[in-house]
Amino acid sequence: MIGIVGGGIAGLSAAYRLQQRGHGVRVFEAADQVGGLAAIHQTAGDPIEKFYHHLSKSEETIVELAEELGLSDDIEWRVGKNAYYVDGVVHPMDTAWQILAYPHLSFYDKFRLGMLVLGVDVRGGIPSRGTYDDLTEFEDVAIEAFLREHTSRGVFENFFRPLLEAKFGDRWADVSAAWLLGRVRFRGERDLRRGEILGYLDGGFGRLLDALVSAVGSENIQTNTRVTDLNIADGEVTSLTVESAAVQATVGDNHGHGPITHDVEAVVVATMPNVLEALTGYTCDIDFQGTVCSVLSMDDPLTGTYWLNIADEAPFGALIEHTNFVPPERYGGEHLLYVPRYVQDLDGEFWQMDDDAIEELWLDGIAALFPEFDRTTLNWIETARAPRTAPIYERGYLDMVVPYDLGDEVTEGVYYAGMASRAQYPERSLNGGVVAGFECADRIASDPGGA
Ligand SMILES: Cc1cc2nc3c(=O)[nH]c(=O)nc-3n(C[C@H](O)[C@H](O)[C@H](O)COP(=O)(O)OP(=O)(O)OC[C@H]3O[C@@H](n4cnc5c(N)ncnc54)[C@H](O)[C@@H]3O)c2cc1C
Repeated sequence: MIGIVGGGIAGLSAAYRLQQRGHGVRVFEAADQVGGLAAIHQTAGDPIEKFYHHLSKSEETIVELAEELGLSDDIEWRVGKNAYYVDGVVHPMDTAWQILAYPHLSFYDKFRLGMLVLGVDVRGGIPSRGTYDDLTEFEDVAIEAFLREHTSRGVFENFFRPLLEAKFGDRWADVSAAWLLGRVRFRGERDLRRGEILGYLDGGFGRLLDALVSAVGSENIQTNTRVTDLNIADGEVTSLTVESAAVQATVGDNHGHGPITHDVEAVVVATMPNVLEALTGYTCDIDFQGTVCSVLSMDDPLTGTYWLNIADEAPFGALIEHTNFVPPERYGGEHLLYVPRYVQDLDGEFWQMDDDAIEELWLDGIAALFPEFDRTTLNWIETARAPRTAPIYERGYLDMVVPYDLGDEVTEGVYYAGMASRAQYPERSLNGGVVAGFECADRIASDPGGA
């Protein structure tokens, strides 16, 4: 049996692919439900992810997986409208005309920004392609220096800097130019007459998780079960130890049965790298940030856009109005707004605030940006938080990525499919989780001496 640590999309994808390759699997999930960061809240209609989720056009593996699982007709590609809130005004940024009309960049700034997005290097006045083909050349280049040289001061100060601060807080200056270039390529698909084309699974991505659970078989998935140890003998992993929530609750009273050990032929660790470190001692130097993300249900829409970036002072990084992307009718008429903030300092005051205090902060912040916002139209707020939700993609990041096969670094039979893997660069995503799970499964299946 192959043991899978973690029942997020990566662990479930690894289990699914391993079964297809003829292996017995068992998924151990510490929480009371699978899904990890893709877990859901209920609404009056379809469920909604606790953290906002959409697909980019460049993400193909998850679409292929959905097809295999019979969900291909349910992936919808929609326009996700973007806007920028600057000096109290919402500026739509979807069509070529709207971008040309945007007043906070000069025509020259827009030209330099446009050329970078198209991958054309216009430094020195002679346009050339190819400069940005090999992203590894920009791995050690600081993002500010890069943007100042390859675009303009205006593009850096008035366009990218507020976005970087929203995404990485006070760690933005550590981020590499390679990440930025990778991101531009990753998001990519934009219809200059309508806006950015993004994907969503009708009914929510929970349906993909459900389909994976059905395919893998719920008898092979154990929730409320934390993996606490990997046991190694003669240079290979031989078993793993788990504690169920029930056992953890009763052990202190001496009523419990203690930890349980399962023999394994190999293990896929599909969690954040701190869990890998606790289980194996392998240290990963990637710094992670946390996220606090609330969903507000309202009677009325707040904005006319899906994704509102905010340059002005605000307690949140962006406002993401899901029901301007997927219609509110799917949610029993509720208008759903995500209010997220990335958190770099888990000892800081903000992370220590309780949900009620955070929700008050959000409502005050929304009212400051939109004085017409009427709190009585609010139906409910649910707040989710997780301490590790996104890497800081700093310079030299690729050297810190955890390999899929840890045979050399840890021991034979230990594989890694979590967020610190290569598939989760330049942006962590559900697709990246599927790819990482598949990469591990394929390596295990093709290992002649192994499982
Ligand atoms: C704010 C935010 C926005 C996002 N936006 C998007 C988006 O727009 N599009 C997109 O595609 N992706 C998005 N993502 C990213 C996406 O959610 C993740 O990349 C993906 O869910 C990661 O899956 P995973 O399986 O690697 O990890 P996780 O989902 O973290 O799953 C790991 C699982 O392991 C379990 N676990 C941990 N320790 C143990 C243990 N010792 N034993 C057993 N189980 C354990 C955890 O409980 C968890 O369920 C977003 C994420 C966040 C937070």
